[in-house]
Amino acid sequence: MVMVRCSLCGEAAVVRIGYARLRLCRAHLREYLVRRVRRTIERYKMIGQGERVLAAVSGGKDSSAMLSLLAALTGELGFEIVPFHLDLGIEGYSEASRRAVEELSGMLGLKPLVVSVRDVLGVRVLGFARRAGRPVCAVCGALKRYFLNAAAVGLGFDAVAVGHTADDVSAYILKAFLTQDWGGLAKTSAVNEAVDGLAARRVKPLFEVHEKELLAYVLSWRLPFVGEECPYARLSTLVFDCRRALAMLEHRRPGLRLSLVRGVVRSRSIFPGSEEPVRACSACGLISSGDVCSFCRLTAKALGEPMGARVREYLSGLSL
Ligand code: SF4
Ligand code: ZN
Ligand code: ZN
Repeated sequence: MVMVRCSLCGEAAVVRIGYARLRLCRAHLREYLVRRVRRTIERYKMIGQGERVLAAVSGGKDSSAMLSLLAALTGELGFEIVPFHLDLGIEGYSEASRRAVEELSGMLGLKPLVVSVRDVLGVRVLGFARRAGRPVCAVCGALKRYFLNAAAVGLGFDAVAVGHTADDVSAYILKAFLTQDWGGLAKTSAVNEAVDGLAARRVKPLFEVHEKELLAYVLSWRLPFVGEECPYARLSTLVFDCRRALAMLEHRRPGLRLSLVRGVVRSRSIFPGSEEPVRACSACGLISSGDVCSFCRLTAKALGEPMGARVREYLSGLSL
């Protein structure tokens, strides 16, 4: 078999980056990704000097790569990161995810904040979803968003970082076009600004990075991550079909994904989005569009009482 060589140094290549017409070895891939994430942070004004960032790490390849790339930039850009992992209590999968996050954090010299849903709410994500009568992924997403924001606000972080990639964002954009979700398109962004005392700034440092590059990165640098999919991941959803369609289009037209995500974010004001007024949830005090936030409503339905205040109290008492 012919060895494919790095376009920059001639070492064995670990990835081909179609839109940049590059084949890169592991060292040059790392350099490329660090540079790209730095530019994304700067271009979208995601993180300022001296700020503290809570990085959501699931243990999967994308967020593991994000943590490693952010850790490489803390000195140069002058910010601090703390990994945050929510243990969902999914048998087999959650134990492996937690181990991967702890191992990776140790390698990077970081102390992760690990919180178990069961310790706080007395129920695992699947039991919660059954009691709420909602799909497990919908409940899981709501839990992850709420816990991350509550931890950031309670512990005084300036921003939360999530590992959404160009693959994720472009798939959500295509789905929003197909379902005429103009409000969703209007909200598509690399940064959601903070709302004083109610929500931390939410940033996506991998917004312009493809998952294929992240997979090559974690594999070639042997970073700990969980390779298996969560057992509840459904491959039949519209958003999954959008991912597949975009992967095919990207293969034939390299650069299409990036131009889609950049273009939509640049012109999102042309979409008719309703600027929802926000206020403090009357039960927990965090961001809400109505009197009671969606998390407090969900927990009231599933567990008999709104649990936002209890989650906040638990998280604010954690020591870093
Ligand atoms: Fe949660 Fe669903 Fe993702 Fe599993 S696939 S981690 S249940 S959102
Ligand atoms: Zn090289
Ligand atoms: Zn609430």
